[in-house]
Amino acid sequence: MPAFMKHNKDISVIIPVYNEHDNIEELYRRLLESVKKITNKIEFIFVNDGSTDNTTLELIKLAAQDDNVFYINFSRNFGHQIAVSAGLESCTGDCVVIIDGDLQDPPELIPALYKKYKQGFDVVYAKRNQREGETVLKIATSKLFYRILKRLTKVDIPLDTGDYRLLDKKVVKILNAMPEQNKFLRGQISWVGLKQTFVLFDRASRKNGKSGYSYGKMFKLAVDAVTSLSDKPLVLVSRMGFVVSFISFIVILYTLFSHFILKVTITGWSSLIISSMFIGGIQLFSVGIIGEYISRINNNTMGRPLYVIDNTNIDNSKTVEDSSKL
Ligand code: UDP
Ligand code: MG
Repeated sequence: MPAFMKHNKDISVIIPVYNEHDNIEELYRRLLESVKKITNKIEFIFVNDGSTDNTTLELIKLAAQDDNVFYINFSRNFGHQIAVSAGLESCTGDCVVIIDGDLQDPPELIPALYKKYKQGFDVVYAKRNQREGETVLKIATSKLFYRILKRLTKVDIPLDTGDYRLLDKKVVKILNAMPEQNKFLRGQISWVGLKQTFVLFDRASRKNGKSGYSYGKMFKLAVDAVTSLSDKPLVLVSRMGFVVSFISFIVILYTLFSHFILKVTITGWSSLIISSMFIGGIQLFSVGIIGEYISRINNNTMGRPLYVIDNTNIDNSKTVEDSSKL
């Protein structure tokens, strides 16, 4: 085997982990069992997203046992999408599986995903049949989010999917070449196109620990999703401008008419308050939407590194020591 191919694996598994120390051992065991059915040329890349529990120790322990286990320890919590992105930048496999670290995504599904990949699909995503142990509010908000997203974007994002999926190496290359700072990988993957399919599965509830996705983080993801895939909110702002201007014009005409012709001067305190509140609300809303897009431009022009690696056992990775190269 030529030297440059030495590190190439058949399958890379990327696992973003944030405070998952109770899940890592079982996850690794089940992953290994599942992937071993396909090949022995495997690598597991755990991206530790600034965990504050014993996740780091667990990973170091695991890496000492198995040469195919790699970890990337971030310097702080950068968020799930960034953690997955870091994994995508470091993996060497012909295909890549992205899986959550909380055992909500069953590792046993990987052979089924792989089978579809072998049939010639470039992206095989795992589609949820049902969701156990998630709050009604979480299910409702995520449903609503996908509905809105579907309306706003031309990109067809499959409903009821998370980030659990298998990607061909060429899709990974395209994703790595996408320069945006605010990642929404599900959307980006749909945007890529190529041959995509899905495998159905039942989503379990989280095994141990608690969800690292607060409503704040979910809201940020939702905003990133919309702004990365659609300009429609901006169109909405200008349309609202038109509508409000039109209404104002009619009201102005009416006011002038009643003042000069009917000689009735309206005392109308309520109408004044209502109209100024209405216009004020619309203005703030519009400025907010425009602000979201400006903040994306700002993030992208700053061009900061997406993440900072504290330490890792992967060669050639960019750690804080050589931050001049970041
Ligand atoms: N995660 C992460 N960084 C975060 C939050 C979550 O890397 O800031 C990881 C987490 O460890 C898990 C995956 O992303 O492997 C999905 O997160 P979680 O299960 O908390 O989200 P939920 O399933 O509740 O949407
Ligand atoms: Mg989860």
